[in-house]
Amino acid sequence: MPHMTKPARVRFAPSPTGYLHLGGLRTALFDWLMARHTGGQFILRVEDTDQKRYNPDSVQFIFDGLRWLGLEWDEGPDKGGPFAPYVQSERREIYQQYAEWLVDQGKAYRCYTSEAELEELRAKGQPYDRRHRNLTAAQRAAFEAEGRSSVVRLAAPLEGKTVVHDVIRGDIVVESASVADPVLLKSDGLPTYHLAVVVDDHLMEITHVLRGEEWIPSAPLHKLVFDAFGWEAPAFVHLPVILDPSGKGKMSKRKSVVEGKEFSPFVHDYMQAGYLPDAMFNFLATMGWNFDGEREVFSREEAIERFDVADISAKAAALPFAKLDWLNGVYIRQMEANALKQALAPYLARDLGLDAAALLTDPRLDALIPLIRERIKLLTEAAPLVDWAFATAGTITYPNPALLIGKKLTAAQSVDVLRAGLELLAAVEPFELPALEADFRARAEAMQIPVGSFFAPFRVAITGRTVAPPLFESMVVLGRAETMTRVENGLAALTSFAAE
Ligand code: GLU
Repeated sequence: MPHMTKPARVRFAPSPTGYLHLGGLRTALFDWLMARHTGGQFILRVEDTDQKRYNPDSVQFIFDGLRWLGLEWDEGPDKGGPFAPYVQSERREIYQQYAEWLVDQGKAYRCYTSEAELEELRAKGQPYDRRHRNLTAAQRAAFEAEGRSSVVRLAAPLEGKTVVHDVIRGDIVVESASVADPVLLKSDGLPTYHLAVVVDDHLMEITHVLRGEEWIPSAPLHKLVFDAFGWEAPAFVHLPVILDPSGKGKMSKRKSVVEGKEFSPFVHDYMQAGYLPDAMFNFLATMGWNFDGEREVFSREEAIERFDVADISAKAAALPFAKLDWLNGVYIRQMEANALKQALAPYLARDLGLDAAALLTDPRLDALIPLIRERIKLLTEAAPLVDWAFATAGTITYPNPALLIGKKLTAAQSVDVLRAGLELLAAVEPFELPALEADFRARAEAMQIPVGSFFAPFRVAITGRTVAPPLFESMVVLGRAETMTRVENGLAALTSFAAE
């Protein structure tokens, strides 16, 4: 594709109306990939012209979500750039000037139709009937004298067709007359989205507009505004909708429950639930685009290298959430030990009430990393797997001491097993995996007890659980003294249980 070699200027233009959604993040990701692939710029522009829906926290949600995914922008509200400001509410005068210019050119006009009159039309299901398109100067003066407020409307062509070229969908063609002179500037002097988006995309020298397919119906209108100014429109790429996991239409803007599992459309929920940015990046990149039709796991660099908007599919797709969890596990297993430790520490700190900074220098966490790595898909799954390691001996309790009895053993036999183990734990040298394992196996054999039954009471004694990471690794993490204290506690609990 020859146009791909030219540096593209692409913008992500969210409206700050609430939490950032996965769909928005996917748009931003494709913008970013296109900018990086072509050596162009990724621009963040906040479209806050709709004051009624404005949510002051949401700009921060947008910043946080993009940065979490690693989509740094080259120009934007907090960064500035050659076309600042990048927040539409700070660009009011610009839109007003451009609207006036269109009026002067006869490409737009002032319309004084009252709200009541418009309501009448709406009630009859009719579009605006262009009633003020050809007012005389005297008529306008009369409306002004009445004190009527006015809006600026585009004088759209009354005949012919308007063609919008979409890179992945081909030509979108409408009868120009069907675009019923839309409002460009509202009576309060604020632009409508349609004016602001066109003026900004032009002034900011945007080459490609990537946005959700719900904007297709507005595209001809935007094209007509570009035409009215005599500007060349950017290339349009309307991205396929993301379907709801329920299979019922477009992904909902709220949480939904499908077969007992909750799905959230909000990016911050994934940030908190222990997903890795790399996995989410990989996952979202396949929402409408694919690497080569086969490979599921690819790096950012590989995606940048290969990404081409022309390869985006127009077909709607549902988010395969099971794949997201799978990918997250894949990325966790690929992570370097130190990176995994850094990623895990805040979650462990939060869920176990520990200090994140202290955790980073805690040798127990280093020792646990290999055990955790193979067993989790989400970072949040680590805490219940390793909470025992950070507990103090006394807080491991045995509400059901019968669990300390190995399979097919009597309580008395299990007491003997724990006693034998204590002897071994006191004497083994060094207190490391091979020596521990060898001694325990030899003793099980000598006592003619199957190893599984021999090991089980120790697992419960030191972790308080029947399912836990491998036994000897766990002992090494705890060290000799702590391991022995826990085994003694387990032994005491089982002894009094057996005596009952
Ligand atoms: N502000 C619009 C939105 O949030 C952007 C549409 C566009 O990218 O042109 O959906």
